[in-house]
Amino acid sequence: LHGAYDTNNIFAKILRGDIPSVKVWEDDHVLAFMDVFPQSEGHVLIIAKQSQARNLLEIEPEVLARVIAALQRTAKAVEKALKPEGLSILQFNGEAGGQTVFHLHFHIVPRWTDREMKG
Ligand code: 5GP
Repeated sequence: LHGAYDTNNIFAKILRGDIPSVKVWEDDHVLAFMDVFPQSEGHVLIIAKQSQARNLLEIEPEVLARVIAALQRTAKAVEKALKPEGLSILQFNGEAGGQTVFHLHFHIVPRWTDREMKG
């Protein structure tokens, strides 16, 4: 949970366009894009575009509100498109908390009872 924001983290590079991503939705504040190592079909990540928050503890509440609204909107779109039986919303903070990319993000992981989970 400690340290400074690294402007060369993978999601910062995606936001700069330095590395490609498959975008599913964006506005001026929030980006939703496909996870490259999906835990299930339709695994999407949601990030803030203009905040250098590494985790949930650092994000400005007004920005968090926008991210959560986009999370709900995207979850509804995923539900409509893929008709999963469930949706897991995941969010990790700090290396010991399971975080690997240190730019705050939420995961949307569609779930089906008859499909094996990779993560
Ligand atoms: P964390 O464990 O930090 O919550 O999850 C980071 C997520 O970012 C992982 O699910 C991982 O698959 C995803 N990821 C890592 N590198 C890339 C990348 O270059 N592009 C995309 N789209 N996702 C990535």
